[in-house]
Amino acid sequence: MPAENSSPVDTLRVVCISDTHGLHRSMPPIPAGDLLLHAGDLTNHGELSQVRDLNDWFGELPHPHKVVIAGNHDFSFDNYRRREAEAVLTNVTYLRDQSVTVEGLKIYGSPWQPWFHDWAFNRRRGPDIAMVWELIPDDTDILLTHGPAHGIGDRCVDGSLVGCEDLLLELHRIQPKLHVFGHIHEAHGQFEGDGWTAVNASINTLRYQPTNLPIVIDLPLDATRPLSG
Ligand code: 5GP
Ligand code: MN
Ligand code: MN
Repeated sequence: MPAENSSPVDTLRVVCISDTHGLHRSMPPIPAGDLLLHAGDLTNHGELSQVRDLNDWFGELPHPHKVVIAGNHDFSFDNYRRREAEAVLTNVTYLRDQSVTVEGLKIYGSPWQPWFHDWAFNRRRGPDIAMVWELIPDDTDILLTHGPAHGIGDRCVDGSLVGCEDLLLELHRIQPKLHVFGHIHEAHGQFEGDGWTAVNASINTLRYQPTNLPIVIDLPLDATRPLSG
């Protein structure tokens, strides 16, 4: 029998959040699930006090797997305080251009986004950002990035599509099951990619109110693959 609050064994219940900006304790309740993903913008400006409280809060949540990346607001993860900031996150798996395998699904996480006013983990569009997307393994099942790909969950309040064109190209190569991101708060929601499910999980609104709901995705587990490791 599956444990209470968990989904049947043939699916992985993925709970997606992003852009909590230090307001994690004020957001709507987090649904139960097998895997909790946070797509960055953990803090306002990388404050370690916010990272510490976020880590404590993660520790209070029941999800057996928790995976997190940084975003453009999380400066302490991208400067001289990097080691200190990363060491705070003891209750989650922090990914920076790395992967982890959960229940047989490979999750790859990367914080970079197209340059916008010189925030953390900014890279110029074109070859500069393409080189980090080229590192994503072909067999990635779940891709976790801070920013959206171009045209999928990236519509700004002014109507412009600001997602990364180079990331979209690599998504066509990778063909993940699921792409989870945030960054463009006003584009919160679930979308169809070109063969994958896309989730903009921004909890904060454009006006930094932490009122958007977490998004839950039930991912089929491939019976031919090992269930752990
Ligand atoms: P954040 O500062 O939390 O990363 O993003 C907050 C808001 O800034 C987004 O919801 C979006 O309205 C705007 N924003 C972030 N990145 C970009 C970008 O690359 N281009 C444009 N036009 N707006 C952006
Ligand atoms: Mn944000
Ligand atoms: Mn952002």
